[in-house]
Amino acid sequence: MIVDYHMHLRGTDDSPLGPYSADRAEEYVEQARRTGIDEIGFSDHVYYFRQGERLWEIPRMLERCHDDLDDYVDAVVEAKRRGLPVKLGLEVDYFPGVETGIAELLEPYPWDYVLGSVHFVDGFPVDQEPSLVHKLPTGEAWRRYFVWLRNAARSGLFDSLAHPDLVKIFGMRAPEEETHYLHVETADAIEAAGVCVEVSAAGLHKHVGELYPDRELLAACHERGIPITLASDAHRPEHVGRDVDKAAAFAREVGYETVTVFDRRERRQEPLG
Ligand SMILES: [Zn+2]
Ligand SMILES: [Zn+2]
Repeated sequence: MIVDYHMHLRGTDDSPLGPYSADRAEEYVEQARRTGIDEIGFSDHVYYFRQGERLWEIPRMLERCHDDLDDYVDAVVEAKRRGLPVKLGLEVDYFPGVETGIAELLEPYPWDYVLGSVHFVDGFPVDQEPSLVHKLPTGEAWRRYFVWLRNAARSGLFDSLAHPDLVKIFGMRAPEEETHYLHVETADAIEAAGVCVEVSAAGLHKHVGELYPDRELLAACHERGIPITLASDAHRPEHVGRDVDKAAAFAREVGYETVTVFDRRERRQEPLG
């Protein structure tokens, strides 16, 4: 089985796709069929929804809190009702101190899974320029990013960690000794927390030109029995499933034989491929 559990029904800032609807979800499913994906999961950004506005302090997020979370959930639930192979997810930014607020925000809705993301660290963006790695010495940027990712894992809020080494997006890396230590520590924390890691093709289309996460981190996750989810991080229907075959092949090379499928936040393993 091949799944793609990370995509955005809303579109992008530059070209939002209009109101959330099951018809639009159907366009994503059609593209999934064309690319050999068996099941897709939507994971729109939490900060586009006004229900979460009180939780955030980052201007970039607050400027975007306009949509109604109910409209998004209703569209995906309607797509499910039509029998489409879709799951209801959300991509949620982790910030320390608002764990209870995030849990309350999530509580009323029938999520299949929730992705945890670290897009901001100590107020600095990770994947927008000038980013964390431009503001701080690279080793320090990496160290802080992985502290936040480990705390996201431990928060108990998330089912899988999205693009787990996003800090490499601009191709700037901490020295190898440090990245080794960070990868091992992070895999230990993820194992202890009992969450999955995402293998994402999104990095192939960014400056770094690589899958997330690094082979060393994914291998450390595999050694510890940490399950994976697969992701394109599509922001438009035509990108659904893009390079997910490469993500799956990479996981297989590292030793993975199964992929995680979620239903109402219960997970099970299905043969990969
Ligand atoms: Zn993200
Ligand atoms: Zn995303």
